[in-house]
Amino acid sequence: MIPFNKPFLVGKETQYIEKAVRSGKISGNGDFTVKCQNFFETKFSFKKALLTTSCTDALEMAAMLMDIKPGDEVIVPSYTFVSSALAFTRQGAKIIFADSREDHPGINEKSIENLITDKTKAIVIVHYAGVACDMDIVMEVAKKHNIYVVEDAAQAIDSYYKGKPLGSIGHFGAFSFHETKNIISGEGGLLTINDEQFIDRAEVIWEKGTNRSAFFKGEVNKYGWVDTGSSFLPSELIAAFLYAQLEHLKDIQAKRKEIWNTYFKDLNVLQNQNLLKLATLPDYATNNAHMFYVVTKNVQERDALIAHLRANKIHSVFHYLSLHKSDYHTNNSNEAVQNLPEADRYTDCLIRLPLFYDLDIEDAKKIALTIKLFFK
Ligand SMILES: *Cc1c(COP(=O)(O)O)cnc(C)c1O
Repeated sequence: MIPFNKPFLVGKETQYIEKAVRSGKISGNGDFTVKCQNFFETKFSFKKALLTTSCTDALEMAAMLMDIKPGDEVIVPSYTFVSSALAFTRQGAKIIFADSREDHPGINEKSIENLITDKTKAIVIVHYAGVACDMDIVMEVAKKHNIYVVEDAAQAIDSYYKGKPLGSIGHFGAFSFHETKNIISGEGGLLTINDEQFIDRAEVIWEKGTNRSAFFKGEVNKYGWVDTGSSFLPSELIAAFLYAQLEHLKDIQAKRKEIWNTYFKDLNVLQNQNLLKLATLPDYATNNAHMFYVVTKNVQERDALIAHLRANKIHSVFHYLSLHKSDYHTNNSNEAVQNLPEADRYTDCLIRLPLFYDLDIEDAKKIALTIKLFFK
């Protein structure tokens, strides 16, 4: 069976974990954490980068920093992972779901303004498949209505919008290093803060509501409980693993792009024959090859293609189930289910193909061929 995903080692991951242990510190905010954060701030010009234990945690920190409260509304695309909404419902927010674009599973930027009310506090956008949303539209509508923007950039490391790194444009960005992402540490995440007013408080919330970070920087002479917070920082073992991956960011991205391009080249003929849709890339966006997906005509064809691939020992998967129809949302909302046809279509028709660092190009070619045979 060719798996859908496989964790991988590219460099000194195990060596660095051992080094962290021998250094005598494996709790959070040590040398490897600082190295990772410096790497992100330097390479991607984030004003502040804080490692977290997951992207979910990074989104929760953003929700806390924006003081999201019951009664506030947050706009979130329906076609996304649970966390993009969950992090805000935990603070009591009401989620208003937005539909996907017709040509891309990401949020329909032009639909956002109609969803804004005087209770809207934030817009969460998701750079689906690592492909940028049209951030000029998003930032302009947010500015006009005085609303915060959170980039759920879980899939979007080393990807760009008009030359700007994703995660550096909104007030906050959240990345994931879950084992299914481009750069991995098992579980892991990053909060980026691009609005400086939030930086000091972010360090407090990150360290269990204490001013421990300021204490270690020598800014205060004792530390204690000063605010709300949680234990959002990962251990040095995670940071050590992550740093070894970051040292090979270029190789990882190059390998993923090679696989992505192989799929695209081999499957484009099906798109030309109108049998299957492939990912589209707007001219303002780059491709970080986070994901290769195809979109079928309907759910029956989607299920048949997944079964055909499985019969040929290839594990492909469908992706999100629209959140506006989820049990949690419908059970906790007393309003009619929103009508979001594009989110439903991607729920029914999108298939993700295997894409991981150690996937052989020959296997990618074989997968593409197996798909072509399905349509013969
Ligand atoms: C993976 C993912 C998350 C969750 O990341 P974790 O690190 O597992 O919390 C959130 N949003 C999107 C869009 C994702 O792809």
